[in-house]
Parts: sequence; structure tokens; C-alpha cells
Amino acid sequence: MATISDQFQARLQWFGNQGMLSGRTYVLVSGSQQIDATITRIKYLLNQKLEKPLATTSLEKGQEGVCNISLAAPLEFEAYAIDPELGAFNLLDSKNGELLARGFIDHGLRRADNIHWQKLEINKQLRAEAKSQKPCVIWLTGLSGSGKSTIANQIEKQLFATGKHSYLLDGDNIRHGLNRDLGFTDADRVENIRRVAETARLMLDAGLIVITSFISPFRAERAMARSLFEPGEFIEIFVDTPIEECEKRDPKGLYKKARAGEIKNFTGFDSPYESPGNPELRIDTLDQDASESATVVMNYLAIGAGATPIQG
Ligand code: ADP
Repeated sequence: MATISDQFQARLQWFGNQGMLSGRTYVLVSGSQQIDATITRIKYLLNQKLEKPLATTSLEKGQEGVCNISLAAPLEFEAYAIDPELGAFNLLDSKNGELLARGFIDHGLRRADNIHWQKLEINKQLRAEAKSQKPCVIWLTGLSGSGKSTIANQIEKQLFATGKHSYLLDGDNIRHGLNRDLGFTDADRVENIRRVAETARLMLDAGLIVITSFISPFRAERAMARSLFEPGEFIEIFVDTPIEECEKRDPKGLYKKARAGEIKNFTGFDSPYESPGNPELRIDTLDQDASESATVVMNYLAIGAGATPIQG
């Protein structure tokens, strides 16, 4: 009898030109089933030249490895060894449908069956009503020095002045605590954003208006973050400052260091920034100062001076 679960271990043959990243979401296709799939852990690499499997944290083109995979919805499957049809799948790029990998399921992960979502009596809506606010995530994205932290700070001040309960998750601060084990490789950037998005989700569930200030350079991770929230809850704001201006401002001296070759994987230099295609708001910091930008956001939320606050 086939298993139905949302987590399993599988062997993956990776064909994608870009390496596989643990924490990134891909599209899994098995027969007629199509489900978003996230690699939660790359367990080890299968290398025919070695006697023993090799531990790894990424999978490059042509490599084969064993991974744990978590799905957005349950999949009907069987171990590949028992049923090659129900046990095999393809992984596709969620942006363009390109075939990235072929997968062979080893077995389901029992933890998926044993962890249940605890139903609580006091829920998001009740918490939001108690605070007379509509919880949401204001997700600021843009280059280093574009003005995210400065604008985030102004938004929070304006929210506070109108009696709203908010919390600001700031890139640098989070990297001192929750994410201090992460660096700036692509894999670490993906994991950085996954943890921030999950944290924002908990805070939103607590009834807060959450502001996040992270470069969040990759479209796939911003889409993943958005997918954690209900329609209307995730407000993506592109702080659209040209890189020349960011470099001129250089508030933390990072552009200078990147030019001198002292920092690797710096966004805009040797690490890409993928601009949002369709953000809820785009902010031009050459045209308006940070407090004017914050007012634009407040008006979007309809919490501006004289506006009626939207109820939860
Ligand atoms: P980020 O968080 O995106 O890395 P910061 O907010 O730390 O950027 O730095 C932006 C710098 O640009 C600050 O020194 C800020 O004073 C300056 N700045 C100049 N004009 C603006 C503007 N219109 N909006 C936001 N920041 C501005």
C-alpha cells in the first residue's frame, strides 16, 4: 500500500547548472502530482570513487546525494525499490519549469506523522482584535545601503505613534543572534531568509505588525516567504536605490571593502540581486526622504493620520 506523507528521504541526481540549495523550494512532479518541495537537509554525497559516502552541504551539477525533503502538501508515494513508478519524481525550477533533478525515494520520515499542528483556542484573529490592528509583514528588500533600515525605523516610529504594536527584524541584528551561524554564501542566504520568514510568521500569528529589513536578494526566497502568509498579509516593498547611490552613501563602509576585495559574496558585486517583478510598493529614495517613504507605507496600510485603521 502506498504511503501518504509530506516528508521523505530520497536519492537525488542533480542536473541543474546552479547547485542545489538546502532550504530552497522547488517543484516536485510525480505522475500527476505536483507539489512544492524544500530540501531540508543534504545528508551525504554518493561518490562512486570513494568507498564511503561523503558528507556535504550542497549538490552540484552531475552529483548524486541523499537528502531529506519536505513538501507543502502530502504526496502519495512508495519506496523506489518497491515501486519504480510511485517512487520516482522530477524536481523542477519553480521560476521557469526547467528540469533540475531526478529523485528516487528511499522511505518516508516518521517525524512527519508524529508532529501534529496544535490547535489553540486563542488564535491569530482574536489576538489581532485585542490589539485593534491587522497583523501583516512589511518586507523591505533592496541593496545594502539602499535605505531599508532607515525607512524601517521610521515606519516603526510612525506605527508606535498611532498606538500600533510592531516589531522590527533587522538583518544585522538577527545575524548577531538567531542566525549567527550563517555566512553569505548562496546556501546561507537562503537559510537566513527562511528563518526570518518563519520568525515573522510566528510574530504575525501573535498579532504584530512585523517589519523586516533584509537584502533578501533572491526572488525564490521572497516567494517562499510570501507563501507562508495569507493573501494580503505579505507586503513586499522594493527600496529601489541605484547601486551607484548606495555606494556613494556606503553607511557601513562595505562597498569600499568590497571594491578592495576584502569582502566576498557582496550583493551587487560578486553576488546577484534579483529585483522584485511585482512588489506591492516601490520606494524611490532619490525622490523622498525616509520619513516620507514611511508615510507612503502607512497610507498603504491605511494607518496614516486621519485614516481609519483597518480592523483584523
Ligand atoms: P540598508 O538597511 O538598506 O543597508 P541603511 O538604512 O542602513 O541601508 O543606510 C542607508 C543610508 O542612506 C543611511 O545613511 C541614510 O541616512 C541614507 N539615506 C539618504 N537618503 C535616504 C532616503 N531617502 N531614504 C533612506 N535612507 C537614506
